[in-house]
Amino acid sequence: MNSCIFCKIASGEIPAEKIFETEHAIAFLDIMPRAPGHTMVIPKIHAENLSDLPREEVGPYFEACQRATDLIKKALTPDGFTLGMNYGRVSGQEVDHLHFHILPRWQGDGGHSLQSVVSNKPTEDVKIIAEKIRKAT
Ligand SMILES: [Zn+2]
Repeated sequence: MNSCIFCKIASGEIPAEKIFETEHAIAFLDIMPRAPGHTMVIPKIHAENLSDLPREEVGPYFEACQRATDLIKKALTPDGFTLGMNYGRVSGQEVDHLHFHILPRWQGDGGHSLQSVVSNKPTEDVKIIAEKIRKAT
């Protein structure tokens, strides 16, 4: 955990272009932005992914994600957003500390929809898949 770059940003050991900070989370500009205002929101405690984030931290964390999105919307007036997180190496997660990407979007910016990141259509019926997921509770 000590070598985690986002923990170091959370502790102030490594500087970042912070947008704001709460008791639970920090929003800062991505050092390699894909769009103007590309922002990341991280929880202050180390959690590798959404599943690792303690339940009591989920609400305050997503409130920070919402606040960051609203601030960017006011400041940069994008046409929309792509919001999301990579979970696991296979999805493109490069830092093992939960981070939510806020990507402001403009007409003609060359980007695509979030669902375009994968093309792996299921071979099973959606009812069978849904039943598997419901039974996993
Ligand atoms: Zn960390």
